[in-house]
Amino acid sequence: MSSSGLVLIFNAGSSSLKFSVIDPDSGRESLDGIGDALGSEQPVLKWQYDGHKHARKLDAGAGHGEVIDFLVGDLLGELPALKKRLIAIGHRIVHGGEHFSRSVLIDRKVIEAIGECASLAPLHNPPGLLGIRAALEAFPQLPQAAVFDTAFHQTLPEHAYLYALPYSLYREHRLRRYGMHGSSHRFVSERAADLLQKPLRETNIISAHLGNGASVAAIKGGTSVDTSMGLTPLEGLVMGTRCGDVDAGLLMHLQESLGYSPERLNQLLNRESGLLGISGLSNDCRELEQAAAEGHRGARLALEIFCYRLAKYIAAYTVPLRRVNAVIFTGGIGENSSWVRERVLHWLAALDYRLDTEMNERMRFGAEGAITPAGSPTAMVIPTNEEWVIARDAAGLVDGENG
Ligand code: ADP
Repeated sequence: MSSSGLVLIFNAGSSSLKFSVIDPDSGRESLDGIGDALGSEQPVLKWQYDGHKHARKLDAGAGHGEVIDFLVGDLLGELPALKKRLIAIGHRIVHGGEHFSRSVLIDRKVIEAIGECASLAPLHNPPGLLGIRAALEAFPQLPQAAVFDTAFHQTLPEHAYLYALPYSLYREHRLRRYGMHGSSHRFVSERAADLLQKPLRETNIISAHLGNGASVAAIKGGTSVDTSMGLTPLEGLVMGTRCGDVDAGLLMHLQESLGYSPERLNQLLNRESGLLGISGLSNDCRELEQAAAEGHRGARLALEIFCYRLAKYIAAYTVPLRRVNAVIFTGGIGENSSWVRERVLHWLAALDYRLDTEMNERMRFGAEGAITPAGSPTAMVIPTNEEWVIARDAAGLVDGENG
């Protein structure tokens, strides 16, 4: 892999654009920032370089293009040594549909295919394309790579990815389960094999990525064989504001008996449910833990439903894996919440999991290691690093292209 080259990463949301500069060899980050509230009256840009934080207001209505213009002109203009070391740009793209089972260098065909997948991820792919177009204009000389959240799960077998709907819906419209958080599941499963000192192809992992969005994946010898998110990121686990699995009949009931429109349903399921909806308090795990400790019933219940659902998924994924080398907790909640990990392992007592209370308490703020004692099946905390995966893939593609 190219030594001393750096990769500029873009992660575009509908009203935000995150960027960072990463060394693909070490994962070290030298610059990171976010353009937030884009398109609104008061967009703002915040960034961090060399341990110093900065912020400035952008003009009302400024969008992804303005953030990239500022980055290229002002910010990187003042950091010529950093700018000179850039060898590639990596874009995080949420949905690659069935077009992409790995990261690719971006050309006209790739852009078209990402556009075709936009109907499957209407909130995510269009801003991703905006980021790509703006970056192509600003950095015409740099190769650019697209890294897809869905790509890692393209190895799911048919019996795991098909819904039990008429097959024609899959054949004609590609309606199936795709899964997300692929870069994170891939990163922690590879790291787990390192920590377990086993070859990746002989390592079976269940990884739980628990952030505001949450998903769990069954990874057999480095290959994803099942995962909890579906056609969209709504399926599966309880999340910050998303409900995860619900009876599809409930959705019909909400429409037919309670008069919910599709827009209202979307708002309910994606933004008002999950930890926030159950607790009536917050989608933030830290706040809920504190409230639960002080006796707030809704907060306690929300956390318990979250943990119970996750434990059920983990137990279910022993079916495709048969032998599980480790369960991995990652993402903001997985890496930091000893409460959640304790409750999940409590529910997994059925599979003989036990908790090392002291190690569990120690695992936070970037710590890595096992939280189970000798004699128990293994559960570990591994901090994820999706940006590093994007940087490695982009640098690897550039190296490949250069022979
Ligand atoms: P995103 O999906 O937005 O990237 P993160 O991976 O940053 O989300 O995770 C955010 C979640 O992590 C929030 O629910 C937050 O409360 C939780 N979290 C972060 N730090 C802690 C902590 N020390 N204890 C418990 N939960 C935490």
